[in-house]
This record gives sequence, C-alpha cells and structure tokens, in this order.
Amino acid sequence: MVLAQLGGSISRALAQMSNATVIDEKVLSDCLNEISRALLQSDVQFKMVRDMQSNIKRIVNLETLAAGTNKRRIIQQAVFTELCNMLDPGKPSFTPKKGKPCVVMFVGLQGSGKTTTCTKYAYYHQRKGFKPALVCADTFRAGAFDQLKQNATKAKIPFYGSYMESDPVKIAVEGVERFKKENCDLIIVDTSGRHKQEAALFEEMRQVSEATKPDLVIFVMDSSIGQAAFDQAQAFKQSVSVGAVIVTKMDGHAKGGGALSAVAATKSPVIFIGTGERIDEFEVFDVKPFVSRLLGMGDWSGFMDKIHEVVPTDQQPELLQKLSEGTFTLRLMYEQFQNILKMGPIGQVFSMLPGFSSELMPKGHEKESQAKIKRYMTMMDSMTDGELDSTNPKLMTESRILRIARGSGRPVRDVVDMLEEYKRLAKIWSKMKGLKIPKKGEMSALSRNMNV
Ligand code: GDP
Repeated sequence: MVLAQLGGSISRALAQMSNATVIDEKVLSDCLNEISRALLQSDVQFKMVRDMQSNIKRIVNLETLAAGTNKRRIIQQAVFTELCNMLDPGKPSFTPKKGKPCVVMFVGLQGSGKTTTCTKYAYYHQRKGFKPALVCADTFRAGAFDQLKQNATKAKIPFYGSYMESDPVKIAVEGVERFKKENCDLIIVDTSGRHKQEAALFEEMRQVSEATKPDLVIFVMDSSIGQAAFDQAQAFKQSVSVGAVIVTKMDGHAKGGGALSAVAATKSPVIFIGTGERIDEFEVFDVKPFVSRLLGMGDWSGFMDKIHEVVPTDQQPELLQKLSEGTFTLRLMYEQFQNILKMGPIGQVFSMLPGFSSELMPKGHEKESQAKIKRYMTMMDSMTDGELDSTNPKLMTESRILRIARGSGRPVRDVVDMLEEYKRLAKIWSKMKGLKIPKKGEMSALSRNMNV
C-alpha cells in the first residue's frame, strides 16, 4: 500500500527535523514542506494540504514554546492531530443495531468495487450476529444481478433481484419490503454505478433513495482514483445524503490519499477499507490507530486491546511484564512465534506492532510467513539454553552458527537470516521498555503515555 510510503516520508521528515540542533522557523518550514510534498504525491487535495500546513504553523508557535520543551514531540503531535482531523469529519456515522431493521444503500461508480463491498459488508455483519440481506437495484448493467447473486450465495446471504424488471426503484422497494417482512435487520441495496448520462445515474440514485428511505448511504470509492476523489465524492454527496465512505483496493498500488479527500468532500467518515478481492479482506477503519501506524508510531491502544482479547487472562500479566522489561531474548521470540502459530489467523496480536507485521508477516502472504516462522523455530530448536536466554549479540559466533545450521539441516544463510530478524524484532521490543501497562479500559492513559 502506497500509504505506507506516505507514512515513511512523513516519519523521515520528522526524524530529519530531530537531527537538527536547533529547531527554528526554517527547520519547521522545511519539515512541513517535506510532509506537504509527501501528501500531495499521495493525491491528497492541494487545499487540504495547505490548510494543514497553516494549522500546524499556528499551533506550533516556536517563539512561545518554553525553552527546554520537546519541540519535536509537539510538532509530531500537531502533525498527528492534523492528519486525524483530516480523516475525522467530527461526527460518527449511523451504525446498524441488531434486531432493528435498517436499510443501507450503496452508491459509487461502476468498477469501484461496490457490489463486492456490499457482500463484504453483509458478511462482516452476519458474523457479528446480524441477519443481513442483499437487494440488487442495478438494472442498467447486464450481469449485475448475477454477480450479486453469486456473491450472496457463496456467503449464504439472502438476496433479491430480477432479470426482467427494468425499474430499479420498483426492485429496491420490493426487496426492502420482502426482507423487512422476513425480519432481516440489515437490508443492503446495491445501486447502479453507470448510465448513459451522468445526470441519469444521479437521478436514479435519488429516486431509489427517496423510495427506500435508507438509514445510511455509503459511498464506495476506489482508492486509486487519485486527485479526482474530491470532485467525485462531492458529486455523489450532492445527489444523495452520503453518511459514510468505504475505500476499496487499499491492497493495490493506490496512493490512497484520495480517502482523505473523500472524507472532506462528503463530511462523512471512512468506516471500512477493502484490502483484497476476498470476502473477508475488509477492515474496520479507525482514524487514530490508522494515523499512528502511518506515522510509524505503532498502534499501541489496538495492540493492548488485542492482548486483552486474545491472550488467556492467566498469561496476560507475564506477557505484559515481559513487554515492559523491553528485553527480547531468542527464547522470547520462540515463545511469541508459538503464540502466533497457535492463535490461528497469523499476526493477530503482533501484527499490531509496527515492524512485526510489515516485514515478518506481510498481508496476503500468511502461508509463507507461517512456513518462515516454523523454519526459524526449527533452527532455534538446535540452540542451547544459554544461546536462547542470552542478551549478548556477540555470543552468536561463526562456529555456533555453523553448529545450528548443521543441527537443524538448514543452510548457514538461513541461520544468519533468522538472527537478523531477531535483532530487528529486539529493537522494536526495546521501545516498549518502561511502558506503563494499563489495565483493560485504561487505554487513554496509555495513549498519553505513548504520545498518541
Ligand atoms: P462495481 O462495478 O463497483 O460493483 O465493482 P465490483 O464489485 O464488480 O468490483 C470490481 C473489481 O474490483 C472486481 O474485480 C473486484 O474483485 C475488485 N475489487 C473490489 N474490491 C477490491 C479490493 O478491496 N481489493 C482488490 N484488490 N480488488 C477489489
């Protein structure tokens, strides 16, 4: 995802600034210019970038900052806040409630991933205990109904549509009525994304919306549309009352900055992102964790939540203790690998830590990652207790490496590779040294602690 590159550029700009001996107007300006350039290259709208730059300059008044205050931290915090503000329209979107019938209408251009996203959205809620249903109100595109039907059948979600009826409003109304009678609590209406004329598309959308009275209209946007995002999103917003945005294809080469523009144009939050073609490649979108990951700050609150959620209660204190000590031995790495493999979907907990996810377990390569982890563990099985418990990197001499390679039947290159990985992870782990571990529900304290 190119957004990761944006994050990298911003972090580098901030890091360069911290290398400066004195942080004055020029250093701050250079840093902000660098960040602005990165945002523009990621297709964020020019006006938003300009506003962000002037907001930060206003917040960070270097002259009034007391001597000795950590200017870099204040600037980093200001960048963090501004990026969050860009993505947060200030009001949450409507959220469906179980057992209470609601209608959600999907709009977006053809090819944006709308039909796929309707099914992902239905499937996500089905797993949360909702009773979803899908209605195909796209009578313009031949094959639209077949596609929805196919997706819905695979996910075992009831659907409604017609090969004969050409009036989308009629189908939408019939579908919604039928599923209301069947006590479905989440009725999703997929609309057309193309017409002979743009005006006709928007008029049709308006009519479907008027007839079905949706509780929420979701605008689906392909993350690769770039600078066109703002105008496109605004055009949709002007026809129907868009209340939320879903950005698709975030797994591809898209720059992703368009997401920020869509939020500004619709004044609606991004609620999910699509990260692949499969039905489960769909993630809830949360602004703060997203931005902190973008800035390489790590998703600390999400990480702790995940620990509380998936690690058995009796093992939590020990793990948290180890985290706060910041000492990462090869044995600890071995234990974490065991946890990762045991926990099923790889990377549940550690994918939340920056560095663990991106390199050791890149998304979409879970099988290869598991194989790599198992390979590492085989090599560690040939290590002595002393080697596993040591914190001295110099201990791993050439002769020890050769012995481990021979013992595990792996090439020397693999052992060196594993030790490199260990060093990398140890560095990340060490950042948690002294971390005050909050109890469940004390996340805000942690966020302050970690400056996020
Ligand atoms: P619609 O015309 O807007 O209904 O778009 P479709 O749902 O037919 O999707 C168009 C194409 O985009 C299909 O090939 C989908 O599989 C693909 N697609 C949808 N969402 C994603 C996503 O998040 N990631 C990727 N890689 N492909 C997606």
